[in-house]
Amino acid sequence: MIKTIGVLTSGGDAPGMNAAIRAVVRAGCELGIKVYGIMRGFNGLMSNDMYEMNLRSVSDIINRGGTILCSARSERFKTEEGMQAAIRTCRERGIEGLVVIGGDGSFRGARDISLKGIPCVAIPGTIDNDIGCCDYTIGYDTAMNTIMQMVDRIRDTAESHDRCAVVEVMGRGAGYLALSSGIACGATSILIPEVPYDFDRDVIERMKRTQRSGKVHFVIMVSEAIGGVEEMAKRIQAETGVEARATILGHVQRGGSPTSKDRIVASRMGYHAVQLLKDGIGNRVVAIQKDEVMDFDIYEALGMKSSIDLEMYKMAMEISI
Ligand code: ATP
Repeated sequence: MIKTIGVLTSGGDAPGMNAAIRAVVRAGCELGIKVYGIMRGFNGLMSNDMYEMNLRSVSDIINRGGTILCSARSERFKTEEGMQAAIRTCRERGIEGLVVIGGDGSFRGARDISLKGIPCVAIPGTIDNDIGCCDYTIGYDTAMNTIMQMVDRIRDTAESHDRCAVVEVMGRGAGYLALSSGIACGATSILIPEVPYDFDRDVIERMKRTQRSGKVHFVIMVSEAIGGVEEMAKRIQAETGVEARATILGHVQRGGSPTSKDRIVASRMGYHAVQLLKDGIGNRVVAIQKDEVMDFDIYEALGMKSSIDLEMYKMAMEISI
């Protein structure tokens, strides 16, 4: 059985990462495995910046957003020199396995280390929910709820002034957050990269139609992959006569205490990762499908495309009019 492992968080932070770290450390300690907490993603692995964790190092973190190990993006790690530095650290510390918590970029890093002989298990931690092999990624539920709460506030003021709120939400190249929060907030239009749109037909005409039925305030949800909310607001105001304001929600979406769903999924995934690593199994991605925790080969996982539920989009358009 493996004696020493490391855990790191990489890429954009996501609420629930701490719950995953906690599960990895506690499951590792339970098996008598030494667990290093590696600071700032792959940077800490290359620069040997880490500390030994124990049962109490992860006390009181299950409820905290962000990541106690800090996160980073590292170009150096993609180079052969960076990879060699990381492998050297693993050899010096006796690290025989790694848990990498992050998005698909981090999975590629985990795959590369596995190829160099250090078994690596990746856990999907990203608010974007854009991992093909997985129904759900850690942080998505919290981000969705944060957006909903923020847009509820924006809606209060839009309602008071008969305005249109044009809101940009995160998701990088994926529209999951915009679609789900658009449904939860009753947005009149939802613009996501997966569904081609015509601004006149899908925003202006929809607004005019709802105006005719008596609606006087509106929410338009726009994915960051589409952007341009300021220009959209100007165009809406010019073409419908409704005063329009743009809001880019930004980093507020990444923070906050994780929801119960994120804490539970993160705990299950962290535990599962250690069960794989203890037997020396690496190059795997932990996933959840239909509420069952499973794992996939990283190559296979990276080849799987995530796709939007078009029926859900159609439903949202039919009921938010
Ligand atoms: P998020 O979805 O939140 O943005 P991510 O994990 O996809 O998270 P990236 O910036 O794409 O974020 O990747 C994180 C880090 O993983 C990179 O900074 C880099 O160190 C490593 N990484 C990304 N792509 C590769 C690759 N092709 N080979 C090796 N390492 C990589």
